[in-house]
Amino acid sequence: MIGMTSGLGYLLLSQDAFYQPATFASVIVISYLGSLLPDIDTSTGDIWHSLPFGHSVGKVASNFLEHRNLTHSLLGFGLISWGVLALLHAMPTYWGLDANTLWIIFIISYGSHLLADMITVEGVPLLFPYGRMIGIPPKPFHGIRIVTGKWFENLVIFPIVNLALIGLIVSKWAEIKMMIIK
Ligand SMILES: [Zn+2]
Repeated sequence: MIGMTSGLGYLLLSQDAFYQPATFASVIVISYLGSLLPDIDTSTGDIWHSLPFGHSVGKVASNFLEHRNLTHSLLGFGLISWGVLALLHAMPTYWGLDANTLWIIFIISYGSHLLADMITVEGVPLLFPYGRMIGIPPKPFHGIRIVTGKWFENLVIFPIVNLALIGLIVSKWAEIKMMIIK
């Protein structure tokens, strides 16, 4: 939800609204995948369940990777972003997609996942292969970080993010219509 909200937010706040339904749809898909991609290193990651045979592949992959590993580091973020940039620029131009905007949206949604994980008690191995888990705020103030799946996430963070997404859609509805309806 955080990835979708920030990806869509970037599109709506940074661009003039004009008819570009393909880019709009791609933004939704890219910010969805970009915000789930870091959890590819766990078999419970939602991204695996959204792919055919993903559950079994995820189970095998998790034998090699622990949760919050390479994909939760600056190294992994850099490598994956570079690969995504190459993929986006390999798209035929007649698709009418703005590769650079989509790439920025990918970076924002992927980055927002890492940031969100950093405010949890577990932290992320940002400097992988150096294994230290890093979070916000840093130790010794880590006591105020969020415990994943507990009340603060469910009752405070989740509603706030949902309200932000709904607020964004309602307040920018005119622009959204211009982008998707001719
Ligand atoms: Zn994660």
